[in-house]
Amino acid sequence: MEEPAKKRILSGMRPTGNLHLGNLHGALANWKELQYEYQCFFFIADWHALTTEYKDPKGIQAYILEMVIDWISVGLDPEISTFFLQSAIKEHTELHLILSMITPLAWLERNPTYKEQQQELESKDIATYGFLGYPVLQAADILMYQAHAVPVGLDQAPHVELTREIARRFNFLYGEFFPVPELLLTEVPKLLGIDGRKMSKSYNNSVFLSDSLEEVRRKLSQMVTDPQRARRHDPGDPEVCVLFPFHKIYSPPETIAEINRECRKAGIGCVDCKKRLIEKVIEALEPVRTKREYLSRNIDEVRQILEAGNRKSRAFAERTLTGVRELIGF
Ligand code: SF4
Repeated sequence: MEEPAKKRILSGMRPTGNLHLGNLHGALANWKELQYEYQCFFFIADWHALTTEYKDPKGIQAYILEMVIDWISVGLDPEISTFFLQSAIKEHTELHLILSMITPLAWLERNPTYKEQQQELESKDIATYGFLGYPVLQAADILMYQAHAVPVGLDQAPHVELTREIARRFNFLYGEFFPVPELLLTEVPKLLGIDGRKMSKSYNNSVFLSDSLEEVRRKLSQMVTDPQRARRHDPGDPEVCVLFPFHKIYSPPETIAEINRECRKAGIGCVDCKKRLIEKVIEALEPVRTKREYLSRNIDEVRQILEAGNRKSRAFAERTLTGVRELIGF
């Protein structure tokens, strides 16, 4: 008996820097699970990166293959999922243009992340037409592959809502064509940077997948802990400590329970607690590092994987655009 076709999902990442542990335990861990259940298209969103990096776009190129290396090293399998580069599929620009024609301006202006991002990225001038239309480009990405669902964190949910509205509007104007994608809301563990702020490339506080084991060790040993534990015998609270969420991921249940108990009565010191964490993180990252090294030495293999994914995605995109052009009569 033929297997029922898997539902399709699409998700992407902007190549604006190396991937860190926050990315690993956020989007990537989720993608790893989803790849067995869904037909997955994962893409490198270089045009999206251009919306904020347009003044100095050279850096974008440097991170494209690095991103593919990271994806494979953490366990995404290009044999079962399709990886592609957004700018290699020119149909995305055409669909973006067509969807721009039917998207009311008010939908974009009311997008809550638009103003938030402008404040967050105040060092960059993003009061541009391209940045306002960012969610329309995202809608083009998603609808191009007729995705049934999109995995997102809560902060990205309004963008997918907008994609759903754009799909409905297209279907209403020209005839049923695009599936209206569902939101696959994902809970991600909140991992902060080593200084206790949001883990971000711009704060220089992240542990990267490309870091050497020495760097991982050095960075983790600098991690801030509960400020109440200024002295060894001061009791602490793991729930306010930057380290504890990492233990919850990397340490066995008995260690987590022990730290949770002993920290509160100063039965364990922060130095010891960090040492235990570092050993576990190093152990977990070792296979990632080995795979990374292999792929970095065999970069042509990585390039070929991306090119094969581009070919497959392009064929899909061409079919979608043929259908779209027919419906609007072009
Ligand atoms: S003992 Fe561990 S969990 Fe408690 S404050 Fe120190 S580092 Fe954080």
